[in-house]
Amino acid sequence: MRIEIVEGDITARPVDAIVNAANSSLLGGGGVDGAIHRVAGPRLLEACRELRATVLPDGLPVGAAVGTPGFNLQARWVIHTVGPNRHAGQTDPALLASCFSESLRVADSLGARSLAFPAVSAGVYGWDAREVASVAFDAVRGYGAAAPDSGVETVEFVLFSAETAQIFRAVLG
Ligand code: ADP
Repeated sequence: MRIEIVEGDITARPVDAIVNAANSSLLGGGGVDGAIHRVAGPRLLEACRELRATVLPDGLPVGAAVGTPGFNLQARWVIHTVGPNRHAGQTDPALLASCFSESLRVADSLGARSLAFPAVSAGVYGWDAREVASVAFDAVRGYGAAAPDSGVETVEFVLFSAETAQIFRAVLG
């Protein structure tokens, strides 16, 4: 599983699946969530509403992940995950690690070979980008080691700012 660092907008990535740093409601938010919904179009919100009406009546738990189509995105799928909110006292790195490993599990179940992650929880949810990078790389490597048959070949981290991209590059080493 190859890890790549990309500076840019995740909604423009030509990968099989992009990961959304959603909130538990799945009904839209700001940041990367808002950007993904804007580009994917209104059918993405309809798909999320359908999930809430059926399998996720109480919303998507922190650390869990679920897939939908990507609609107008280049990516065929969006994998929604909910990062821990440091401002709400969610400081357990295992919850953040779970966002990455569960998203990879969903990617495998969909048949995605390339996947792009944003810096989950490094925005309004208040985590330090260094810690997000470190937890994320460990989680991806751990998933790859535990799932040698995984079909995911490329994992991109798509960072919106040059500063965050630099932090991710430095942590990756
Ligand atoms: P969270 O609530 O999980 O912290 P945010 O959306 O607030 O999620 O921020 C997560 C990260 O995504 C931040 O580093 C933010 O700068 C970044 N981000 C915002 N928009 C985009 C985008 N279009 N592509 C990639 N990253 C983005």
